[in-house]
Amino acid sequence: MPKKAVRMIFLAAALTLAAGNDFETDVFKIASGDLRITFIGHASLLFQYAGKAIYVDPDGRRADFALMPKADLVIVTHQHGDHFDPQAIAALRHESTRLFLTDLCRPLPAGARTLKNGDRAEFAGVAIEAVPAYNLVHLRPDGTPYHPRGQGNGYVLTFPGLRVYLAGDTENIPEMAELQDIDVAFLPMNVPYTMTPEMTAKAARTIRPRVLYPYHFSESDPQRLVELLRDEPAIEVRVRRMR
Ligand code: ZN
Ligand code: ZN
Repeated sequence: MPKKAVRMIFLAAALTLAAGNDFETDVFKIASGDLRITFIGHASLLFQYAGKAIYVDPDGRRADFALMPKADLVIVTHQHGDHFDPQAIAALRHESTRLFLTDLCRPLPAGARTLKNGDRAEFAGVAIEAVPAYNLVHLRPDGTPYHPRGQGNGYVLTFPGLRVYLAGDTENIPEMAELQDIDVAFLPMNVPYTMTPEMTAKAARTIRPRVLYPYHFSESDPQRLVELLRDEPAIEVRVRRMR
């Protein structure tokens, strides 16, 4: 077989597999170009901006990351298996990929930086702030929270002209009232680990994002959240495949 034909077959196969990942993407026009947000599933997201790929909580059960763009930055909210997947990070990283994780992510990948609540970082013109994420009312049978205060992070990513809040695994905690000028919010909605639709709606009324994506919603019904926020026309609830 001629060499060129072999290469074309290989390419066609790669495209088919990539299409098998089949993800939705939303595009936000911001000051310096397009910000593309790809909804990989549950808590896994891909932000593409200014030629950079920023992954949040990449989980290898949601995608074949060998077929995805390499990561320039990976951000992890906390150590639980649906958020921290060392194999997914290994598949995505190249020699200069930066990693922002939390202290309890083990084994900590080589070269990773750990961030705790209140820490700030910067990446390619994007300001990154780690903010609290924890449970107040949902406890394990032994009385400890599923997410104790101070262990996990949410993040505020400030792109030029657009602020994105990634809540992480949290309930509607009082610190949400301190978040300013959030344009796009991702709020988790599954029990017992994070929020009920009612708690998520309450959080949304506090944060007041222009666009709200429920995520990490497992068996919870995102339409319930849409109903609960029907009287808030300034908050657009967008339901994507983030079960
Ligand atoms: Zn968790
Ligand atoms: Zn989780």
